[in-house]
Amino acid sequence: MSRPRADIHLGALVANWRRLAALAPASETGAVVKADAYGHGLAEAGRALAGAGCRHFFVAYPHEGVALRAAVGAGPQVHVFHGTASGDDTEGLAAMVEHGLTPVLNDLAGLALWLGAAPARPYGLHIDTGMNRLGLRPDEVGEAVNLTAERPPALVMSHYACADAPDDPMNARQAETFARLAAAFPQARPSLCNTAGLFLGGQMAGAVNRPGIGLYGGGTSPLQPELEAALTLTAPVLTVKTVPAGESVGYGATARLGREATLATVALGYGDGFPRSLGNRGFGVIAGTEVPIVGRVSMDLITLDVSAAKTFAKPGARVEFIGAAARLERQAALAGTLGYELTTRLGPRVERRFHP
Ligand SMILES: *Cc1c(COP(=O)(O)O)cnc(C)c1O
Repeated sequence: MSRPRADIHLGALVANWRRLAALAPASETGAVVKADAYGHGLAEAGRALAGAGCRHFFVAYPHEGVALRAAVGAGPQVHVFHGTASGDDTEGLAAMVEHGLTPVLNDLAGLALWLGAAPARPYGLHIDTGMNRLGLRPDEVGEAVNLTAERPPALVMSHYACADAPDDPMNARQAETFARLAAAFPQARPSLCNTAGLFLGGQMAGAVNRPGIGLYGGGTSPLQPELEAALTLTAPVLTVKTVPAGESVGYGATARLGREATLATVALGYGDGFPRSLGNRGFGVIAGTEVPIVGRVSMDLITLDVSAAKTFAKPGARVEFIGAAARLERQAALAGTLGYELTTRLGPRVERRFHP
């Protein structure tokens, strides 16, 4: 039985990684593979990138790091953004020690906990330069320097708030603050740039970059070069029918046909993680022709007006909803969101197929 499918193009992923790495030749480019590599498959994406020479991976949780370690072996460094929390996270801490993961420590209590529990193990330190999310406040850096005098961090990082808006003055302010505070840890490698940050230029020498979305072909920076779609989401046509003008389509009868139309009902819905907000807004592509979603997206089904592609819209034909033709960020914008959310939400009912 045919069902929604995400074809994962590992070659495109690697090509995007190389492309981004080439933009920052004085620094080293890692890969952010949290949330199952943004929905692309953590183990497969990790292995493909490690095989291409990627030596720094970033995940959010210890358990993601454990799974990645099993996939990529002992060589690459696996950094865990949520690091060691000051709460009672002994399980995560033990997993990081056992599997050789590098926590990013986000506050003084977490730092003290790691230094006490895992002597002589490498770690990173996150400094908040204005996002007010994770990381030490600038006025806590002095105390962190004292605490870490014997065992300095291997990596010191911060995160841009507005990197996809290159003209925002906050970018330069954060970069300056970070350069000043990171200098307190001369043994540590600095790490600031996510995907959009890479396009701002001015990487610090010896830095480790942290692109995520660009690896997968997404991103909204106006400075971004064309990147390859690493995922193609398709779904099969179940039925096709011709419906006269004046009739309605789907729950709530939110679409009314202004003329006779050929409608294709496709096996994909919000139960697969495809956003309900794309009802009457999103589109599919069949044999190169864009066809609009008509009516609401339901749990398992979408209806398309395929009047413009009648000869191709037959039961069993596959319609693309994300990919080289149905660009991720365009579909995401129609849904009122970003590519990040579209790919990370694709659910377990979507079959994954991996291609070299
Ligand atoms: C997710 C994440 C990244 C990757 O950002 P992209 O915009 O996907 O390139 C980098 N750094 C941190 C701290 C993150 O949480």
